[in-house]
Amino acid sequence: MIDINELTISTARSLLTSKEISSKELTKIYIDNAYKSEQLNAYCLITAEQALIQAESADIALRSGETSPMCGIPIAVKDLFCTKGFVTQAASKILEGFIPSYESTVTKKLWDAGSVMLGKLNMDEFAMGSSNETSTYGPVINPWRGPSQTKLTPGGSSGGCSAAVAADLCLGSIGTDTGGSIRQPAAFTGVVGLKPTYGRCSRWGIIAFASSLDQAGTITKTVRDSAIMLNAISGFDSKDSTSSRSKVPNFEQMLTGDIRGKKVGIPKEYRIDDTPDEIDRIWNDGIEKLKDAGAEIVNISLPHTKYALPTYYVLAPAEASSNLARYDGIRYGKRAKIQENEGITELYERSRGEGFGKEVKRRILLGTYVLSAGFYEAYYMRAQTVRSLIKKDFTDAFSDGIDVILTPTTPSSAFPLGEKINVNPIEMYLNDIFTVTANLAGLPGISI
Ligand code: GLN
Repeated sequence: MIDINELTISTARSLLTSKEISSKELTKIYIDNAYKSEQLNAYCLITAEQALIQAESADIALRSGETSPMCGIPIAVKDLFCTKGFVTQAASKILEGFIPSYESTVTKKLWDAGSVMLGKLNMDEFAMGSSNETSTYGPVINPWRGPSQTKLTPGGSSGGCSAAVAADLCLGSIGTDTGGSIRQPAAFTGVVGLKPTYGRCSRWGIIAFASSLDQAGTITKTVRDSAIMLNAISGFDSKDSTSSRSKVPNFEQMLTGDIRGKKVGIPKEYRIDDTPDEIDRIWNDGIEKLKDAGAEIVNISLPHTKYALPTYYVLAPAEASSNLARYDGIRYGKRAKIQENEGITELYERSRGEGFGKEVKRRILLGTYVLSAGFYEAYYMRAQTVRSLIKKDFTDAFSDGIDVILTPTTPSSAFPLGEKINVNPIEMYLNDIFTVTANLAGLPGISI
């Protein structure tokens, strides 16, 4: 009898290769779990039929000696990835019924490696949010409960990805991280979230939010699993002009567990007022653990940290306003009805007015404003300058010999549904304070 709660990608891989379980059996367990947990609202589409077909092919491949570590592993995909033949909506009404005729590079790599797609995962609309409450499919619920059984957010925007992994509705999931959307939900649900270096995984076929910040990554139960999955999705892609040509190492083989002599930086700017004791305690525990394992702890300064959040909330909306201009009611998804005496302008206005949610509209307005002729230099250009200073803070630390930086992922643990979304947007944005820096600098980050 398999204990699904204990199962990871790496243990499932052993069971599959030793033929103790077939991919089809494994897939059926997860499809069952996904249907049984519909109240979490993690999936916006369960592709059971497709999953069983893929599982059967994986079983044939495994029988003939296929050794790809992801072969036969049932996973699920954030609704931001275009999946050929399956509705892809970025959890937005404006893309209602949009069925891509192409497959994103990252998902294609996974299917080519024999992975099984269980379905598409709920998210914040166009990946804008930190609580998965802006989705046209409604909020995702964290499988963990707060005091008195309070329903908590699973984080966002990849909230479906984190809830599905934490509740065993898939073995791993693929999300995206523009300002923390993989790491923050992973932290809120007690799983591992990895945002790779910008350019490591192709952005082709991922619905764009802020192109200079967007990066695909993994949500898994263990670090080993994220290494396995990262290998499957990494690599140069000529269809993405920002794709990195650097060689992809075997990430799993690099997990030696030996960190003796590594220099771990603790940035003083991340010690902010009002951090709950719990977060401070866990951060300090982490420092002690690394010290015990032989790492050297070094206090460092990343002086421009305080500008990161405002910089992000200028640049991300600016890029979003440009990327989202393509949703006009003509080319994709939803087209609003107009009167006989109305024309193309009304069609655009009404389609966009009805199709986009409140947060997305706010970002488009903000982005258009900071890019407008009168304010471009004051906001957008200045934010670009500050972005390079933030990046330089990290470059300086690394050239001083720092190997890795340890910080909390979020300034709070998972908060109750409705607590921030109904207050004011700034409350929600503040949640990204520790994560946006990695995106602005193009650095990898992992939440454990
Ligand atoms: N919470 C951030 C935002 O709303 C980050 C989103 C993301 O990483 N996709 O912009």
